[in-house]
Amino acid sequence: MERIYETNSPQETYALGRRLGEDAKPQDFYTLIGDLGVGKTVFTQGIAAGLGIKEPVNSPTFTVVQVYEGGRMPFYHFDVYRIGDIEEMEEIGYEDYFYGDGLSMVEWGNYIKELLPERRRDILIEKDLQKGFDYRRITITEVGI
Ligand code: ADP
Ligand code: MG
Repeated sequence: MERIYETNSPQETYALGRRLGEDAKPQDFYTLIGDLGVGKTVFTQGIAAGLGIKEPVNSPTFTVVQVYEGGRMPFYHFDVYRIGDIEEMEEIGYEDYFYGDGLSMVEWGNYIKELLPERRRDILIEKDLQKGFDYRRITITEVGI
């Protein structure tokens, strides 16, 4: 199933993320794809807020995974954009996160397709400049659910 949301401000994108965070259950899994500056971090900050995380959340630029423990359940925030090969994920012990007791979100999950859980939601954020600078289309596709 595929759901499409449209937002016209960072606040709306944040609010959508927050709803997902509020509804999240342990072992929920999201991938997140979208060009630079499209709102992935805004969306992720919403998710973290929905989980009750108070710590500031940013892009995990220098680490593949950033763990936030301060909320209702752990939040495992991955960015695999710069991953060299799948072995790096093995070294990190990704399975402990993916099949653990928290919510995992993997930015650029398409780079590690072979490792993605069969049950997950894929999120794509896109601009459409014809609809304005602040317009975003957010497509959430359920896979195996
Ligand atoms: P990314 O992490 O994808 O590189 P960021 O979340 O860091 O992107 O930045 C998104 C930028 O776009 C922010 O400056 C934000 O204010 C702006 N923006 C404008 N409209 C929206 C919108 N509808 N949703 C999300 N961000 C928006
Ligand atoms: Mg970002």
